[in-house]
Amino acid sequence: MAFVPAKPALYGETLASLTAALTAAGQPAFRARQILDWLYKKRVRTWDEMTNLPKDLRAWLDATYDLAPTAFVLDRQSGDETDKLLLELRDKSLIETVIIRAPMTGVGVDKSRKTICISTQVGCAMGCKFCASGLEGLKRNLTAGEIVHQLIQVCRQEDAHTPRARAELASFDNIVVMGMGEPLHNYDAIVRALTIVNAEWGLGFGARRITLSTSGLVPKILQLADEPLGIRLAISLHGATDAVREQIMPVNKRYPLAELLPAVKAFSEKHGRMVTLEFILIEEINDSLEQAEKLRDIARDLHAHVNLIPYNTVVGLPWKRPSLTRQERFADILRAADVSVTLRREKGHDIAAACGQLRLQTEKERNAGVPAAG
Ligand code: SF4
Repeated sequence: MAFVPAKPALYGETLASLTAALTAAGQPAFRARQILDWLYKKRVRTWDEMTNLPKDLRAWLDATYDLAPTAFVLDRQSGDETDKLLLELRDKSLIETVIIRAPMTGVGVDKSRKTICISTQVGCAMGCKFCASGLEGLKRNLTAGEIVHQLIQVCRQEDAHTPRARAELASFDNIVVMGMGEPLHNYDAIVRALTIVNAEWGLGFGARRITLSTSGLVPKILQLADEPLGIRLAISLHGATDAVREQIMPVNKRYPLAELLPAVKAFSEKHGRMVTLEFILIEEINDSLEQAEKLRDIARDLHAHVNLIPYNTVVGLPWKRPSLTRQERFADILRAADVSVTLRREKGHDIAAACGQLRLQTEKERNAGVPAAG
């Protein structure tokens, strides 16, 4: 599933790897920082804008690297302040990057947050039954450069909302690795990409404000716990018993709760941070009071935060969102035990915002010869 582009993306290089490449090409090592400065601080679009580099070096960069691994296709804005950016890769694959500007309602607190949700694969192999991204399986992994470039595209789109100044990535509160794909199934690329996002020579975005969400690949969770990256972890749990989780998440057969939960605990203890348990509430699948009680027990044992997400309907899938009363009853069981819980308000429902839907819809339109519309 590895994609080998004609030229690697410059956005996938670290300071160390770019320095090594420059040195091997007979260029001075100090140029690496200058180049990365043009990329991340000045956010140039062309080699010619890198005016402090000699012409021969710019020509070498042009011959060696790709400066635009993703291309903007459309920005579909929802009335509730969610933007979905559809991006096209060099091989014409489509990915989604989402900006959420809406307030979040928690237990007695209201706060506004700007969050970016990035993708890590084209499609996904995990086959979660409620998810549009898993409908057609995995097409390929994203490269580290394609992952990083999504954030550059977000900043460029955001410029439209900040007329007097250029939008900085730091103006966002959080980055969540929760878009299309299972990030830990593309382990090396996501770790490299997040290293670049976090580095002072890269995008300089604080690791504590980055959350990676996994469906539960146990060995990779343990490997991630040993990385120097201090990012946060979220688990797509969606079932508080094996019987329920297995119905909707095939990964649970490979890594049942008896293996997953100790791995999450190990991560949490190593990093000293609260892990988040994501739980999509689906009517008559996982919204029973018994599931709420089991989830409460798991969350207490892990000292985890629980994020309850009322299900977004996906065309072609049979699941439904529980009533508001039922959502509240479920959340109340957790609250009564002092579990930290968020019941998410509906976001992006009207723009096919459930993970992967905009991409699927656009691909269908393309195949039918209908041009994409913003
Ligand atoms: S929910 Fe995440 S892991 Fe599951 S199929 Fe969708 S993208 Fe993949």
